[in-house]
Formats: sequence, structure tokens, C-alpha cells
Amino acid sequence: MTESMLTGTSSPAAGAGALLSLLRDGRARTRAELVELTGLARSTVSLRLDALLSQRWVVPADDVISSGGRPATAFAFNKSARIVLAADLGATHARLAVTDLAATMLAEQEVEMPIARGPEAVLTWLVDAFRELLTECDRRLADVCGVGVGLPGPVEHDTGKPVNPPIMPGWDGFPVPDWLGARLGAPVLVDNDVNMMALGEYWAGRSGAEHLIYVKIGTGIGCGIISGRSLHRGAQGAAGDIGHIRVPSSEENVVCRCGNVGCLEAVAGGAALAARLHAAGHETADSRDVVRLVRAGDTEAIQLVRQAGREVGVVLASIVNFFNPAVILIGGDLAGAGEHLLAGLREVIYSRSLPLATQHLSIRVSELGDRAGVVGAAVMMIEHMLSPEAVDQALSA
Ligand SMILES: [Zn+2]
Repeated sequence: MTESMLTGTSSPAAGAGALLSLLRDGRARTRAELVELTGLARSTVSLRLDALLSQRWVVPADDVISSGGRPATAFAFNKSARIVLAADLGATHARLAVTDLAATMLAEQEVEMPIARGPEAVLTWLVDAFRELLTECDRRLADVCGVGVGLPGPVEHDTGKPVNPPIMPGWDGFPVPDWLGARLGAPVLVDNDVNMMALGEYWAGRSGAEHLIYVKIGTGIGCGIISGRSLHRGAQGAAGDIGHIRVPSSEENVVCRCGNVGCLEAVAGGAALAARLHAAGHETADSRDVVRLVRAGDTEAIQLVRQAGREVGVVLASIVNFFNPAVILIGGDLAGAGEHLLAGLREVIYSRSLPLATQHLSIRVSELGDRAGVVGAAVMMIEHMLSPEAVDQALSA
């Protein structure tokens, strides 16, 4: 056992991870610039740079910077150094991607894949589908540094195991990270899909809000929270489950799938709206059918969606007062109803929240749309792999 293994931090390259973090903004910098930026000795910067160059986390940039004297080589983050596999497994559809270390899609696929088929069937399919995607973008499994997966149910953060997921029969407690990790040979992180969507949106608008809420209104309703630039998961990973908050409504006696009555999801979720329209004689099976009716100008569907917007708004108004987000992004199938949904939402949020909290509040439809979850799953893995501590550890191994 070497001394560096015993002490952990005595590697000469310790601190290289922090240097890499600086370069991840995409700008190439010279040695002199890095010395100035970090305040470190030139020899220290060189040592850390050499460690990053040896693993190709950093490469000499094409642009050579000349500052009057002799030209100096600039160094840049090498976003192609490794690749990441990402999956957003929804209730009925799955979206997969291979990305580089800047979450740029190298290959992607969206297919129908019911999560209710159970973990072994879905994950066996996933491993094969990832292999095909890798072939498509001419990369190998050996280039993969990690796998990020979003699941449509509660996930215990520490273990990555689903916990009593209501629409995922057979998945309760299934060791997804171990199972996938053994077959793909890379670390696997698993989280709830709405958390991934919030992270994806935050990443996409990187220079923007530090505090944001992503609300998914599909069959069910849930939200992901970015607080002070990072995902807020809560103690067990259950933060943001707003679908089961009780709301005052004319439908307040309706029984929810969780067993309680009057839950937001049972009143205003896509499944609830589809069922109500179906009972009124429409051919609606799910939230996508509801959106189709709204887009066709059906007044009954429009009124129902506006009312659902108000009901979600009641819960969000409390959250705005409590959490003071700068941005609320609305995603999920029902977001396809656009302004009809947002009108009801805004009406209640602006009238019921504190003026200071709504002064600069922006409420809009998700920018990444269906891609938010898969982008977020990739970002979760990238942030994990490229954290300064993880990079230092990889370099000292
Ligand atoms: Zn409920």
C-alpha cells in the first residue's frame, strides 16, 4: 500500500478536480491565466494540469493565445473524454441517450416501453438498447463513465431503490444500480423522474435561476426542486411529492390511488381529467387525449383544464410563499394544453402569493419538453463523476 493510499490526499495531483471545475465552463485558458485565476504557484498548476492531461480530462486547445510575447498554449476541458448513458423511464415510454461530458446528445431513442413489465424485463431491454445506441454513435462500453436513470416513482436516494412505487409493479426495493452496474460495468445513479426533469431544465438554463420548481402534470402530479443551484431531495428523497396534498375542490371527496381523498392528483391530474371527460361521453383514455380535445377547441375540456390549473395553482401558491422560487416550469403531458393550463395557474398564484415572492416570478412551460428527464439523468451522472472530489480520487487511483 502506498503512502497516498493511506492518507488519501497526499497525491501530488490533489486539487486537480477543482482546476477541472474551472475549465468546465468551456473556455480555454493558458497556464498563466490558471495561475492568476487560482492564486496557486505555477509549479502546482502545472502538476495538476499534467494529471488532467494524462487522463485526457483536459487537452491542449486549438486556439493558441498570444499575449504580446511568445504564444502560449491554452488548455480546455475535453468534453469527449468519456461518455454517459442516460435513461428516462416513464410509465409508458422510455427515452434513452448517449451523451458527452457536457450532456450533448450523441445518440438518442424514444420507444414505447411500459414500466409495468417489471424490472428484469425493462432493464434487460435497456441494456440491449444502450448497446445499440453505442454502436450507432461508434463508441464502446469501455468509454462509458457512468449511467443515470430516472424512474416514475419514489426512489430512496442513498440506495437508488424504488420505494412502494404506485405504478411500477414488481419494482419495490429492486436494486436497480447493482443490477445495471453489473451488466454495464459502470457506476449507476437512479432518481425520481421529476427530479431529473428539474435538473435537466436547470442545466439547460444554466445562467438563469438558482431557485426553481419543475412541476410535472401528467397522469399524476409531482415536482422537482432546485434550491441554491442544487437538487433538493429531502431526507429520504421524497421531497416535491405535491400530488398528494389535499386541495379544496368540488371533487374533494374523490378517492386517490394513494388511498386518501381529495389529493391534488385525484382532482387535477391527467388521469382524473380523462376519466371525467370519458364519463361525459368523450373518447379520452389519458392526458394526451385530454390535450387533443383542448387543442381541438372543445369547451368542456378547456374549462376542465383551466380549473385543473387553478387547483394546481392553489398548492403552488403555498409553495411560492414558502420557497420563493424565481421560476416555475410546467412539464408533463398536460403542459401541451399550454396557455389554457397556465392561465388558471397564474390567476391563483399571483392572487394568493405574497407580492415580494411573485414580483419577479416567471411561470412558463418547460423548455426541454420531453427531453428534460433524459438530459437531467445525464447531468446527474456528469456532476457526480466530475465533482472535484471524484476527479481527485480517480487521478490518485
Ligand atoms: Zn393521493
